[in-house]
Amino acid sequence: MPRLAVLGHPVAHSLSPAMQTAALKEMGLAGEWSYEAIDVQPDEFKRVVHGLPAGGFEGANVTIPHKHAALEIADDASDRARAIGAANTLSFGGGRIAAENTDAPGLIAALPDPPAGHRALVLGAGGAARAAAWALADAGAAVWVWNRTHSKTERLAEELGVRPVEPEATHRPIQLNRFELVVNATSVGLEPSNREGADLKALHLDADSFTDQHLVVDLAYGSSETELVRAAREGGAQVIDGREILVHQGAQSLHIWTKREPPLETMREAIQAAGSRRMATDES
Ligand code: NAP
Repeated sequence: MPRLAVLGHPVAHSLSPAMQTAALKEMGLAGEWSYEAIDVQPDEFKRVVHGLPAGGFEGANVTIPHKHAALEIADDASDRARAIGAANTLSFGGGRIAAENTDAPGLIAALPDPPAGHRALVLGAGGAARAAAWALADAGAAVWVWNRTHSKTERLAEELGVRPVEPEATHRPIQLNRFELVVNATSVGLEPSNREGADLKALHLDADSFTDQHLVVDLAYGSSETELVRAAREGGAQVIDGREILVHQGAQSLHIWTKREPPLETMREAIQAAGSRRMATDES
């Protein structure tokens, strides 16, 4: 029976096993394929991945902190994964390791319309921000990047051919009327904010600057709605949350392994149910 897994550290919180297992079941593959979470320490990543094919694994999703290592370990990597500098999907076959990045096409697939010609602001300069900036630029958007540590903004902008938001402009909130699309690819929002307004302040955003002209994507998701999502909705913006992005990147990985079309609605429902169970456990 082909096995699949998500490799991360920590990984116990991951909603991918519930989501992918539900998808496999709906696709009629539950008796053939399985999907599990494996906690892998950074210094164990190489050894664990090399041992997976012998254990019957066909592929693996890779999450924090292994996405860069996943690219490095690959025998074959897609142009996309190389350009982004990170991989979240590994496939094993013929004694080789192939690497792909589905975070980028997952983001584009989650958007209601193609972003070509739109002005997009990406917040962050880590792996998720690199994937988002690359995906949006590749799809024809004009992309600006802002990050807390400006030196990383400059590096990302130069490497991916996008524009940095200059630091002098960040002493006050970023002017959102210049953008139609705002993507939070920082880890702000992952933990519930302990002070009203603290997350938006950390992102140099003003709650009042969201309007119905904005589409806001928040890659971060926790047990409750993020402050960014709440403020964007209150301002009338259209919002796509991190769980929806998780569905699309996971579906694209599943398609790579099974060559079949994954059931998005089933995956959404599974995430919702697993998220609610987690919330109940956290609160008990
Ligand atoms: P990462 O490489 O560790 O990058 C973290 C980013 O967050 C950096 O740009 C960092 O800025 C910024 N940051 C952290 N704390 C901050 C704070 N207090 N104020 C302002 N900026 C702060 O992580 P990653 O892999 O890119 O992931 C980023 C987020 O995307 C995570 O929440 C992750 O869960 C999420 N994600 C979601 C999906 C999905 O499917 N929904 C997929 C991928 C990632 P500095 O450079 O200044 O430290």
